[in-house]
Amino acid sequence: MNYLIAVDLEGAHGVVGEPYKGLSPTLGEYRLAVENVTKEVNAAIAALYDSGASGVYVWDNHGNLDNLDFTKVDSRAKKIKPISNSIGRLDFCKEYSFAGMVLIGYHAREGRRNGVLAHTYSSADIQYYKLGGKPVGEYDIDGAIAASFGVPTVFLSSDDACAADFSENFPTAITAVTKLGKGRNEAEFLPVEEVLESIYCGVKKAVKAKISPIAPVFPTSIEVRYTRTEYAAKIFEKLSGKGLSVDYGEDAHILIGTVKNVDELRTFL
Ligand SMILES: [Zn+2]
Repeated sequence: MNYLIAVDLEGAHGVVGEPYKGLSPTLGEYRLAVENVTKEVNAAIAALYDSGASGVYVWDNHGNLDNLDFTKVDSRAKKIKPISNSIGRLDFCKEYSFAGMVLIGYHAREGRRNGVLAHTYSSADIQYYKLGGKPVGEYDIDGAIAASFGVPTVFLSSDDACAADFSENFPTAITAVTKLGKGRNEAEFLPVEEVLESIYCGVKKAVKAKISPIAPVFPTSIEVRYTRTEYAAKIFEKLSGKGLSVDYGEDAHILIGTVKNVDELRTFL
């Protein structure tokens, strides 16, 4: 059985970033985040192979999609290199019949209290995404897209805030906590060995649990609040140009619409 490990960066242990900044390569903590998340990915790879996986694929999806040094990633795993992060996000699921998706380094959604480096795609541009009236994070959206390809999200590691939110929407999936969030740029760190051990054990448990995909219910309402009205207007034009039904919400920051399927959902990203 093949498994997919989806890797972001902000949820890694030992990392809190800096105020007003994202985790970009120019930031001092970026290298530490990459190093730490690589250890977490290796713990997950070991757990998957020890649980009988035949193939493990790693999808590095932070920023420019090219963060991990694959000479430091367990060589049994294969690298997935998608062309773009939004258009066709997770389309490669069609090529491999993944038995499950494991989320490593994911982070809380924008605005989540005590979510370390919390954001939804872009702190500068997006204040929330709501699906079916409920605020969602990147883990929800990736989980929904993967589910549309029949792939269940079986595990997430992140800070405690993100893990709690994720568990609400993926109640049968397993989580491991990498740090205890105390603010956007503040956390209580846990011993590294403890974090890696809980990822290893959690992933093993997730494989055993035989979790089924939670299918997103389409059509569903979508609501996005953008920081700037100019940006909302630009997105409005883009979406209407693509034939999607989109309108303004309460004010010019907010776009509302209905997405009929996963392709339409991805157009909103
Ligand atoms: Zn990221």
